[in-house]
Amino acid sequence: MGNPLYAALFYPLAQRDSVVLELAEGRQIGGADFHAMIAQAAHALRACGVEPGDRVAVQVAKSPEALAVYAATVSIGAVFLPLNTAYTAAELGYFLGDARPRVFLCDPGTAAGLAEMVRAEAARLETLDGVGGGSFSAMMAGAPKSFAPSDRAPGDLAAILYTSGTTGRSKGAMLSHENLLSNARVLAELWQFTDRDVLLHALPIFHTHGLFVASNVSFLTGGRMIFLPGFDLERVLALLPRASVMMGVPTFYTRLLEEPRFDRDLVAHMRLFVSGSAPLLAETHQAFEARTGHRILERYGMTETNMNTSNPYAGERRAGTVGFPLPGVELRIMGEVGEVQPGEVGGIEVRGPNVFLGYWQMPEKTAEELRPDGWFITGDLGRVDADGYVQIVGRAKDLVISGGFNVYPIEVEMALDEQPGVLESAVIGLPHPDFGEAVFAVLVAQKGVTLDAGAVLAGLRERLARFKQPKAAVVVEALPRNAMGKVQKAELRKRYAGWFQG
Ligand code: AMP
Repeated sequence: MGNPLYAALFYPLAQRDSVVLELAEGRQIGGADFHAMIAQAAHALRACGVEPGDRVAVQVAKSPEALAVYAATVSIGAVFLPLNTAYTAAELGYFLGDARPRVFLCDPGTAAGLAEMVRAEAARLETLDGVGGGSFSAMMAGAPKSFAPSDRAPGDLAAILYTSGTTGRSKGAMLSHENLLSNARVLAELWQFTDRDVLLHALPIFHTHGLFVASNVSFLTGGRMIFLPGFDLERVLALLPRASVMMGVPTFYTRLLEEPRFDRDLVAHMRLFVSGSAPLLAETHQAFEARTGHRILERYGMTETNMNTSNPYAGERRAGTVGFPLPGVELRIMGEVGEVQPGEVGGIEVRGPNVFLGYWQMPEKTAEELRPDGWFITGDLGRVDADGYVQIVGRAKDLVISGGFNVYPIEVEMALDEQPGVLESAVIGLPHPDFGEAVFAVLVAQKGVTLDAGAVLAGLRERLARFKQPKAAVVVEALPRNAMGKVQKAELRKRYAGWFQG
């Protein structure tokens, strides 16, 4: 039968002497060596008791070893479950309880504090740091350098990626081998990736963008990645001359534009800049072209579907749009009753081999968002212009995207409402020059209480990942509500629109 994702992405590495990963400090890893690292990680997972179908949860620093654990999980036929490194112990408790992984890998520095919780979930705890240390690395070091992968069918699970839940509960999006492989194939062809490409990889690998879009496409086409722990301006400036492609969130591009050393000469040799995960302002697109001569290629996707649309490689990359549906992906815009008229705004739905299998152990949620005939209700609002370009106009669910990370207001509101003296709260995203959007809280005090907004925010520090914590808060007498009692967030956004703008 075989193992579709492993066969396409990782098996060919065994025959490659060329470099596949280049690290910031200059270390280079060749294909055959990385293949051996994957085999060692697979043996280590086996030694932890991981069987096909088991979940392998990781909350670790970005490193070649962490990437090898992803590949090893696929090869073993298990299910990779990466978690944002910013999640707190309280948040992790939910994910581990929900996903019930066989093994949980974390940083040696956090292991002691998490041990009891991990044990309570009957998972095995091992550690992996960002520089090849930790108990799991030690297990890898002693293991054989070849491994026979497990058989998997195209529809079998390869990964679960958690999205934030609108009701405060995250949902695990179940992604199959075929979901991931079909999308990687389409993107590689559309964006004309070859084995000569060198991808500057500064994205996190716990999210679909860095893990699947960037890494899978690069492995599929046999290129090289310059694999950075994160976006560090100096490093990116120093390494861009060695790259041919860069993938980023809009924040990467606005930061580069703030730097005068980022100019036409530095990137004249580059083939492609890709942006996604959050809206790229048309003005950023234009400023980037004026500075460098390159037109950023914007695409649109999400955890549940991988990528859905992309601007063309050869044709016009239109600012403020996310381009056309990918080959094999259908897209429609739905109103209250059926599809809207051309050009009108409605809910974006997509269907295709990229669309996930459903939410892990949440059949009702799956049924709410995934129609029986395969159409997925994305929750995004958009329109298709006269030339077929898709525009995203808003998020039906009031999602805030700060620095490329999703924040669902309801989760932050629930945490705020628990703080002493808080009666209720509304969380919105406001335009922010650096983060795209910043989380902002509007608080109402309990009767007779004088609320200190700063103290309320301080109370969230242990509770929520940093990217979810509001960057500012105000205290008001009452929240604006409509006749149905719903808080009018649009009104709040208008009122505080300029808060973070110079
Ligand atoms: P995630 O599941 O974290 O990848 O977030 C997916 C959401 O990010 C989508 O549903 C969109 O709301 C948003 N998104 C992704 N790419 C874009 C884009 N190019 N423009 C606007 N919004 C985007």
